[in-house]
Amino acid sequence: MPTVSLTDAELQTKRRSLFASNSLAFYRTPLVLERAEGVWVHGRDGRTYLDAYNNTVPVGHCNPEVVEAICRQAATLNTHSRYVHELVLDYAEELIGTFPEHLNKTGFTCSGTEANELALRIAASHTRKTGFVVANFAYHGTSMLLDDLSPFAGGTSGANVRVLKPADVYRFGEEGVLNHFTEGLQEAIDDLESKGFGFAALLVDTIFESGGIFPHPTNFLSSAEKIVHQSGGLFIADEVQAGFARLGEIMWGFQRHGLTPDLVSMGKPMANGLPCAAVVGRGYLIDAFYDKSHYFNTFAGGGTAISAAQTVLNIIQRDRLTEHVQEVGEHLLFGLMRLMQQHEMIGDVRGAGLFAGIEIVSDRDAKTPDNKAAQAVVNGLVESGILTGSAGEFGNIIKIRPPLIFSKENADYVIENLDEVLTKLPRKLGS
Ligand code: PMP
Repeated sequence: MPTVSLTDAELQTKRRSLFASNSLAFYRTPLVLERAEGVWVHGRDGRTYLDAYNNTVPVGHCNPEVVEAICRQAATLNTHSRYVHELVLDYAEELIGTFPEHLNKTGFTCSGTEANELALRIAASHTRKTGFVVANFAYHGTSMLLDDLSPFAGGTSGANVRVLKPADVYRFGEEGVLNHFTEGLQEAIDDLESKGFGFAALLVDTIFESGGIFPHPTNFLSSAEKIVHQSGGLFIADEVQAGFARLGEIMWGFQRHGLTPDLVSMGKPMANGLPCAAVVGRGYLIDAFYDKSHYFNTFAGGGTAISAAQTVLNIIQRDRLTEHVQEVGEHLLFGLMRLMQQHEMIGDVRGAGLFAGIEIVSDRDAKTPDNKAAQAVVNGLVESGILTGSAGEFGNIIKIRPPLIFSKENADYVIENLDEVLTKLPRKLGS
């Protein structure tokens, strides 16, 4: 039955009655969306919003080329991953082609969670160890194992999991972060060994999104990687957030850090909104795992999702989105830095490519996180027609992470409106 006759409030009530009663919907007044195209999203109320948040649609909402590819493939062949399908093999080859040579095999999954879970299973199987290390406030997925490895989601961190202090360079400085990922890592590994779990892998989101978006410095993860390899473990780069050109200049976040990961997990933006994810890794690791485990994932690498993923990758390469993202990202960051000079509540601005974090604080010297003000800004931006979100331990970091096709004009629009929203809030610098 169509539900268009319900009011927005009735839809919220219906949502709460059908899903968990506290299931999250963004914003003080949750948005009821109707359609979208490119970087624009249209509400049922007739309002149009600039999407400065969604990385699930890197080449834009309802991108006509992607829609065409999905429809064509759905009308031709969309089946089970145990048949041979040339399209899927072509895409696997194209995807692997974006990685350094040592990462030469892939395994498809349906979600970032499944990709991480597969990578962890490969690591455990290869090392015959069960101990894992993650960064604090990391988020890596929804399964039981990944919940344990996701301190951001309140994961319980099982007995076989160690959590490093965060990569928060704003609060700990470069030296502090380096220590967390060297001395801290070594201690964690030693502890796992002494407790009998042994060390299987370090799993890192290469942009530290949920922890608060930390693109710099780019030296400490390579030190961590050395320790991981000296200890016989694997380095798993979680590229669910950072991958597919998000950070400008390069395709993958780990490349900014000069890393040689053993396994890379990816998902979210891969198929412009369709469930599609993967692990890419050293061929011998993937071969050995599949030999032992008979891993099978019914819908992974299905034709329709892969045809969307292939179109996304082609657009990223054809339209040189790595360069575009770099250029627009620098423009955005420059504008945000200017705002920091005018608004005292901005304690820090950081970013790479089209992934920016704006740290909202109540006291710049003490770097006191101000969640309330950050939420007021995010809600103020929605009211002025811009979608953003928040991240970090205290939810005080405003997250700007738009589709990759965002333009400089779109970035200016965000900056102008952010300026207005901040001006209306108290504690403006010099006031
Ligand atoms: N890793 C990271 C870094 C993520 O941000 C997420 C999702 N936000 C995941 C893994 C899990 O991906 P999915 O929701 O597709 O399972």
